[in-house]
Amino acid sequence: MLDHPRQSSGPRGQSSGAPARRFSRTPRHKVPGSSPAPRHEGGGSHYSSGRSFQNSGRRSSGGGGSRSGGGRFNKRADMSRFINTGKENSAPAAPVVITNKFEDFLIEPQLKAAILAKGFNTPTAIQDQSIPHSLLGHDVVGIADTGSGKTGAFLIPLINKALLDHSQHVLIMVPTRELAQQIQEEFRSLTKKTDLESVVCVGGMPIYRQITQLRHGPAFVIGTPGRLKDLIERGVLKLSKCQNVVLDEADRMLDMGFINDMRVVLALLPPTRQTLFFSATMSREVEKLVGEFLNNPIRVSVKTGDTSKDITQDVVRVPPGKTKLEVLHDLLVQPAFNKVLIFGRTKHGVERLADMLVDKGFKAESIHGNKTQGKRQRALDLFRKDHVQILVATDVAARGLDITGVSHVINYELPGSDEDYIHRIGRTGRAGKKGIALTFVD
Ligand code: AMP
Repeated sequence: MLDHPRQSSGPRGQSSGAPARRFSRTPRHKVPGSSPAPRHEGGGSHYSSGRSFQNSGRRSSGGGGSRSGGGRFNKRADMSRFINTGKENSAPAAPVVITNKFEDFLIEPQLKAAILAKGFNTPTAIQDQSIPHSLLGHDVVGIADTGSGKTGAFLIPLINKALLDHSQHVLIMVPTRELAQQIQEEFRSLTKKTDLESVVCVGGMPIYRQITQLRHGPAFVIGTPGRLKDLIERGVLKLSKCQNVVLDEADRMLDMGFINDMRVVLALLPPTRQTLFFSATMSREVEKLVGEFLNNPIRVSVKTGDTSKDITQDVVRVPPGKTKLEVLHDLLVQPAFNKVLIFGRTKHGVERLADMLVDKGFKAESIHGNKTQGKRQRALDLFRKDHVQILVATDVAARGLDITGVSHVINYELPGSDEDYIHRIGRTGRAGKKGIALTFVD
């Protein structure tokens, strides 16, 4: 019965006649920094008054640690990427028209109730445009900004499918442990009144517990490529009957070098399956993956630009006579900086900065790859629940995190690439809220 998954979730009268192939796009914003490198010193900044940044008129060398190369930051021209105040791109975007309501989706009543209980009243753009196709059983490629509701976009149709047909299994592959856990939380909140189960299979957590949980045959397996491959090799994770797969943040998985593990895992799935593929960016490598693993997918893009319109971006300069840490301190004591995610480049540097902030009397935690998963989760929880004001993080540790109400993202050290920058600042300005991203250039 699983040979025809395209029919199994069935049209059920759902949003008729999806075109065989579509690429819908909301109007693009002007991409920050796409105009000829504005100097932008002293003008338009929200942060230039009296403090030590954005107004010194000093020429910057683009910040220490910048790299060169494709997609990498290099030299002064790149600085405009960190500023969007007073630029055309803050002009209002053409409104996104949402055509569906959750009430109208032909999904099971308990799922509909769970969606509404979560306070989701209207689908986000990516949900609005992709769910009707996913419910019809099509493969979907969704290109959407981080924080745009991608998780619901794939969980809602697949939970519905599993509710209708208990033999359905779903594999969700993601780049990081934290993202896997976040997806499981969203899954649990959407399946409260059902008997659907899930397991998170990620590195850094005891494998034997995951093996035990897998033996119960949960409908949803959420994991990172390396651990999934490990479990396959141990003969515990069998994918020959897994008729649905989600690749979330596919571009990040490629960036993180998971391509071989991904191929191993995907090759074991049955050829007749439904594949939902989400990525914040579409590169040639990502397109290659789509060609390799998806079957005539519907394409949906709701990107409004490289960065969310809800994020104000600016640079911070360290004036002569002050240290970087002092400037950071001056920012963090301001009341508006109530939930601040600070990025550094190295595990050691991140740990040290968190210690120094604690010494200065701030409530700060750190999250990086040298910490055990338990400690990372604890730091994250403290930050999530507002028990600490500051979380200092490396890129890898913070990828894909969805934390409500981050007021500021501070790039204390420059990100390695455009993509890292977009991912970092995407931790603020989420779900329609405003956010501020500040980048130190010294
Ligand atoms: P995601 O991009 O999936 O990480 O979602 C970003 C945030 O938006 C999460 O906090 C979600 O719970 C929230 N969210 C997702 N869909 C909706 C919706 N339809 N209405 C309101 N909030 C949503």
